[in-house]
Amino acid sequence: MTVRSAILLSILMVAGCHRHRDDSKPDVLILTLDAVRADHVPGFGENPASMPNLGKWIASGLRFTSAYTSAPITLPAHNSLFTGNYPWTHGVRTMAPVQTATPRQNLVLAAQTQGYQTGAFVSSVFLKPEHSRINGFDVFDTPRRRRMARGTVAAATAWLEGVPADRPAFLWVHVFDAHWPYRPTTPHFSDCPEDVRSHVQVGVAQMRRGFVVAKNPEPYWPTCLDELYRSSLAEMDEALGALRAAAAKRGQFAWVIVSDHGECIGDEPGLMGQHASTLAECAVRIPLAFGGLASVPAGTISSLASIVDVAPTLARALGWPMEPVDGTDLLVSRSDRHVRFESPAPPRPRGVARLLGGRVNDEKMVFDPDHHVLRAWKILQDRSEEISPTLLSGAGQDLARVVMTAPLPIDAAVEFPGTGRSSRGPAREGRGGGPPSEPPGVTELRSLGYIE
Ligand SMILES: [Zn+2]
Repeated sequence: MTVRSAILLSILMVAGCHRHRDDSKPDVLILTLDAVRADHVPGFGENPASMPNLGKWIASGLRFTSAYTSAPITLPAHNSLFTGNYPWTHGVRTMAPVQTATPRQNLVLAAQTQGYQTGAFVSSVFLKPEHSRINGFDVFDTPRRRRMARGTVAAATAWLEGVPADRPAFLWVHVFDAHWPYRPTTPHFSDCPEDVRSHVQVGVAQMRRGFVVAKNPEPYWPTCLDELYRSSLAEMDEALGALRAAAAKRGQFAWVIVSDHGECIGDEPGLMGQHASTLAECAVRIPLAFGGLASVPAGTISSLASIVDVAPTLARALGWPMEPVDGTDLLVSRSDRHVRFESPAPPRPRGVARLLGGRVNDEKMVFDPDHHVLRAWKILQDRSEEISPTLLSGAGQDLARVVMTAPLPIDAAVEFPGTGRSSRGPAREGRGGGPPSEPPGVTELRSLGYIE
């Protein structure tokens, strides 16, 4: 080899190392924050100093400040995120592993078709593909039960570093630190009395099981629980700084940050560290932000949005074909917009109704089909005010009719045969005695805080 050809070869090799992928195919990062309520997130009501990494990240994108989940429960909501469909369309309506057809279309499969390398890094075993039906990932990394954000982010960034520079990456990272039971390494208490702190975790766990707690620190519980929750959020935020840096190191990346549902912390009597059994704002309102796309400017949009809109919005912005779904492209405004949500009856010993709900303009309604009760609210900027359903506007009454005649959510108790944990009916009497053996998955569900 001549000196000239050796130099030429070395130039080509250097050029090859820095070869970049097609500009029309940025990396895509979907970050889901499990059980993170909107009003605790910077840009959605919270001070950016509380979560500096997330605060800066979200401020660089487009925020939807009136966004709702499709169901305040992890599996149905994540399925809505990736398929663009409501639970009654995609068929995953509870936390139980369900026998539903794997979808032919979702964001991940669309990314694969476009030549993306796809990786999922989740923090709860219940999102594994056999449970979640979220298919199309080349790599699907799940913990044995649950893990903190720093572990999930470390696994995700290691994978990202291994994706060739000329191949676009589609990465889903799910963090679970804010999900009950809250276990921050270093809880920061300021307003929670010292003698109450040690009782909070235990007391709330007992209350969630329906027990009357002998010691009575109840007036302080929401404050103490909120401080534990915020401590978990702060630790989650620390880990997310490394994720953003790793994604930016590879070049341009499009991103979505969204929660699967909120979390209620004493917002209503009995709602402590819970989300699945209610359609209250604390459970269904979610933070949602997009960024890293030329067609998406930074800013704030207050019109209604849903988790089902993420897939069609992202697909359209990236130029990926997608068949029509329940969700809509959020970058195209629609005057007739409404959003809907449902809650199955979770398999808890205490009677909890399944619920169907929706919102149009500033009116929200929730229907309890088992007791045939419809309730309605005006949603104001920082609170909601219950109104008589007869006072709903024409658009509100139209949506109420749709909600009241919709297919019923599945009774989750049916999905856990033999647990003795039906939300109503004779199986409730099984409480206390317990079944001789539990179906697969029930122990894990309990350890993760989904059932008591
Ligand atoms: Zn969740």
